[in-house]
Amino acid sequence: MFNNKFDSNKFKYGIYYAIAVAVIVFILNDYVTNLKSEHIKYSDFVSYINQNKIQEVQISKDRLVAIPKSNEGESNKVLYTERVDDPDLIKKLDTAKIKYGGVPQEDSPIRSFFINWVLPLIIFTFLGRVLFGRIDKKMGSGVMSFGKNTAKIYAENETGVTFADVAGQEEAKESLVEIVDFLHNPKRYTDIGAKLPKGALLVGPPGTGKTLLAKAVAGEAGVAFFSISGSAFVEMFVGMGASRVRDLFKQAQEKAPCIVFIDEIDAIGKSREGNISGNDEREQTLNQLLAEMDGFDSSKGVVILAATNRPEVLDKALLRPGRFDRRVIVDRPDLKGREEILKVHAKGVKISQEADLNAIAKGTPGAVGADLANIINEAALRAVKNSRKEVVQEDLEDAVEVIIAGKEKKDRILSDKEKRAVAFHEVGHALVAALLENTDPVHKITIVPRTMGALGYTMQLPSEEKYLITKEEMMEQICVMLGGRAAEEIEFNTMSTGAANDIERATQTARSMVSMYGMSERFDMMGLESIQNRYLDGRPVQNCSAETAAIIDEETLKIIKEAHEKSKKILKDNRYLLTKISERLLEKETLMGDEFIHMVKSNDESKGQNKEDESLDTGSHNG
Ligand code: ADP
Ligand code: MG
Ligand code: ZN
Repeated sequence: MFNNKFDSNKFKYGIYYAIAVAVIVFILNDYVTNLKSEHIKYSDFVSYINQNKIQEVQISKDRLVAIPKSNEGESNKVLYTERVDDPDLIKKLDTAKIKYGGVPQEDSPIRSFFINWVLPLIIFTFLGRVLFGRIDKKMGSGVMSFGKNTAKIYAENETGVTFADVAGQEEAKESLVEIVDFLHNPKRYTDIGAKLPKGALLVGPPGTGKTLLAKAVAGEAGVAFFSISGSAFVEMFVGMGASRVRDLFKQAQEKAPCIVFIDEIDAIGKSREGNISGNDEREQTLNQLLAEMDGFDSSKGVVILAATNRPEVLDKALLRPGRFDRRVIVDRPDLKGREEILKVHAKGVKISQEADLNAIAKGTPGAVGADLANIINEAALRAVKNSRKEVVQEDLEDAVEVIIAGKEKKDRILSDKEKRAVAFHEVGHALVAALLENTDPVHKITIVPRTMGALGYTMQLPSEEKYLITKEEMMEQICVMLGGRAAEEIEFNTMSTGAANDIERATQTARSMVSMYGMSERFDMMGLESIQNRYLDGRPVQNCSAETAAIIDEETLKIIKEAHEKSKKILKDNRYLLTKISERLLEKETLMGDEFIHMVKSNDESKGQNKEDESLDTGSHNG
């Protein structure tokens, strides 16, 4: 197969070579003819006749060719000139006794056909080849080869990745181990008559390690790995995608046992229904893929893996039994998983003995494998910048903040007034969090601006991984989000734009309480919104009437107003604390959780008694 391709290539190049030679011969031929003849002016022609230097003249439609007398010596070149409208020409020739006549055979029809048609064709083909050949190389795909020679794109023999490189995805690995075993030993399965799933679909948010897992399966099984991205099927030429699919499966079957991995399959596997505009190319490609999956015999040892973060848009036909009937969920890692992922990536860098990866894992809820890999790398870069020989905890913590909030932007100068506003705003968040019962402890407060737009922020860290959130906790989360604005109102008796993001998040949380979690009395347990694209941005989609939507808004507003009042009350009751801590933050720019809690607590003790006694205890206990 591969050899054949190579030969056909050789053949192609042979043709181009021949064409090139033909062109050169032609040019040379013309040049030689030029050497043998010479252009002269008509007046010279006439004077040659008069001087009796010409032996014979051939008259054609538009030129006169004169053959000089050979005894004339010097040059024996044939002379030619344009035919000028000269009625006396014949008379002149007669008087000079020169033989004349038409051209015996003006131009052979074959020759003229060749010059007028074939030669230009050859030249243009040749030029086109040279030009497109360049573009070809740049784009890395064959524009002129029409999908014939794309093998290189997807063949990848050794991935070198094993399950050990994928951390924190134990369930996913477990379901894939079976596939590995099958590839190692297909006979064991076929002997008993068991059919393995032809394909498995890896589903999960971006960066959780789907691509990595597929490579690991190939690495573990020690088989060839054909990998192609879904978008690579949809090309500029219609029909190319389908031919690529055909090619891919043909090669895969020849190389069996092997794994065919189609990354981001939603690019071609999108549901065909409800798509009015239609995309013929994609549909053709999808159909071809379906046909190929049905056509090949999985007992040969070809396993198809595919990955997507939008499983809900996939065509149902792809998911039916016999195709991608097995789903492997690759979800965001939990605390333990995050720690393991950090460890895997920390192996490659020199890291201090004291570094506490568990603490980093705790500080990164919701982070995916790609984020964590990035954090380790950022930390290593920071260690180099500070000319350290190894990565220390501080590097890691800073890296987490860089990933979450962007780099520090030290050159952004805030006016003192603005700085004060930011400080009170942030302490407002932190204080509400510390004084409420069901909130995550405050980890850090800072008013150093960040490149991603934050002028300051308050970082809360859960003391343990949570999988469920209660109504009370959600309510208090909203209070904390609104605490920033509340503090500004109390201290400066004004409002600023700084709360825009808080407002957005608070509203979203409040709305989902009403419409998705059944936490409002008004709607009881009625579902009014559902999440689309669960693995991407997770945007909710309303499925209710416009009237109901209006009532949802009312209910949401009620929750927000309640939370706003509550946080204002908390801050008013602790006005002294708010001012004291804000002044301290202005001075230091960054307050760590311990110090903050200490200030909250010491105030509490100095006052002797406080009605928020219990909640204070919880706060300090967590911090
Ligand atoms: P996906 O295909 O799910 O979007 P990738 O597999 O491309 O994500 O992951 C990107 C990178 O993130 C990987 O190359 C790896 O360095 C890191 N990574 C992601 N998940 C994990 C994991 N579970 N264990 C170790 N590294 C991971
Ligand atoms: Mg991927
Ligand atoms: Zn805020």
